[in-house]
Amino acid sequence: MTDFVSILDQHARCQPQQLALRAAGRDWSYAALAEASRRAATVLSQQGVGAGDRVALLCYNTPGFLLALFGAWRLGAAVVPINHKLQAPEIDYILGHAGTTLGVFDGALAGIVARVATPQKWLSTDTQAPGTPFFDELLAAAVPATTTTATTVSPASDALAEILYTSGTTGKPKGCLHSHQNVFMTALAAAAGTGLSRTERTLIAMPVWHSSPLNNWLLGTLLMGGSVVLLREYAPAAFLQTLADERISFTFGAPIAFLAPLSVVSDVQSFDLSAMRLWAYGGGPLGADMARKLAASYGSDRFMQVYGMTESGPLGSVLYPEEAIAKAGSIGRSGVPGVAIEVRGSNGQPCRPGEVGEIFMRTPGMMQGYLHDAEATARAFDAQGWYATGDLARIDEDGYLFIVDRLKDMIVTGGENVYSKEVEDAISSHPQVQDAAVVGRPHPEWGETVTAILVAKPGQALEIDELKAFLEPRLARYKIPRIFEVREALPRTATGKLLKHTLRAEVVA
Ligand code: ATP
Ligand code: MG
Repeated sequence: MTDFVSILDQHARCQPQQLALRAAGRDWSYAALAEASRRAATVLSQQGVGAGDRVALLCYNTPGFLLALFGAWRLGAAVVPINHKLQAPEIDYILGHAGTTLGVFDGALAGIVARVATPQKWLSTDTQAPGTPFFDELLAAAVPATTTTATTVSPASDALAEILYTSGTTGKPKGCLHSHQNVFMTALAAAAGTGLSRTERTLIAMPVWHSSPLNNWLLGTLLMGGSVVLLREYAPAAFLQTLADERISFTFGAPIAFLAPLSVVSDVQSFDLSAMRLWAYGGGPLGADMARKLAASYGSDRFMQVYGMTESGPLGSVLYPEEAIAKAGSIGRSGVPGVAIEVRGSNGQPCRPGEVGEIFMRTPGMMQGYLHDAEATARAFDAQGWYATGDLARIDEDGYLFIVDRLKDMIVTGGENVYSKEVEDAISSHPQVQDAAVVGRPHPEWGETVTAILVAKPGQALEIDELKAFLEPRLARYKIPRIFEVREALPRTATGKLLKHTLRAEVVA
């Protein structure tokens, strides 16, 4: 059966004592996790959750998140993991859009839950939220679902398992619908693509509400019968300490998650990281210098770049560790079993080496579509079911993909294509620049004018004329911004991605 209820029960039968989860100072063997998830199903069922319902999860990396997830799946309900850094109106948008009827949250987030307007039941995973039923206490008192009326059969493969919201970088977050089969196939592809096994000890340090830590790495590890260690919330020193203390063999992070410990911990070499088999990083590229710095500092060259998006499952492609320096900045050439990737030009034909086109992808983990948005779903897929990622890439002679920009962020000025990311990288290399965003401003004659919005380094005066002179030898004339604006800060998503659609609206106004 291609669903995680069956997988959990299978491991509980075949390797009951194997460690499944270590979190919040507690251990769950596969037998214990299966049993606890049955209790969770009972609790959720007592609160009115049943097949077809949607349960919101607003948690740090806590055991409550995982127990509620498995409990909901045992009942045939779907989960809606939510970014806990969002503000109350943003959370309300997701709750209303997804139609959740119950939410499970960590007590530390009681403040934000109190400001959420959507009427629905809430359960707290700890006692920090007075007045809310306490999930853990209910769990302890609950009779496992096998002896109650709650559904205990595995969910159908095509039933809805998750609604995962995109980061909202290019507009409002979109709700990606993933069936149990999609989730299973993503975990399988991720496990196969990175060699996860039963002996794996995976540290989940990035937020579990995000598609990649959850579907690829947490569920990928459980699929193989390995062990998952949850770090409640990423912090550079704690991350490094946990890798060493827990003899972790695999982890995933944004590049900055691996770089940050190097500036806060002086004696990285003294941490025993000899159990580390593979470090996967994604969400953004890593240049050759940084790749070398990581290798030298951690005494390992086992760094693998992964690329994907909430829609695709998410694992789409990998750049193998041995290619990290020679092909630095590339997202690889697929390398994930079952995943097909193609770069197509504006004529719809595959690009030749050197050309830039949009990345199209086909994965068995691919979402069924966007919730309540048939139009966007139709636009996202071609007639053969290939997903148009909205990411622009150049392929090199060897077929490696290099992301150049997002399609929506590309600027067309006087018939020339300008990749905003290339201009931002050039501006950011100026010593007085802290942050930069480049967007197109509508222009009657040129189509768009290249516009830069900058943040200067604290206490530094940024001379625009001097910056222009700095850019001249680095960028073709048509790429150099015509308009410069200096600000205190740039708008970013909760995960740190630039909100260019906000900036585009502002520069027009
Ligand atoms: P939205 O779809 O709401 O605008 P988003 O696309 O940022 O937000 P996610 O699904 O979290 O939401 O992010 C996927 C995107 O992140 C990809 O489409 C790509 O642009 C970027 N990305 C992911 N991995 C990498 C990588 N390894 N290198 C460069 N960019 C990456
Ligand atoms: Mg996206």
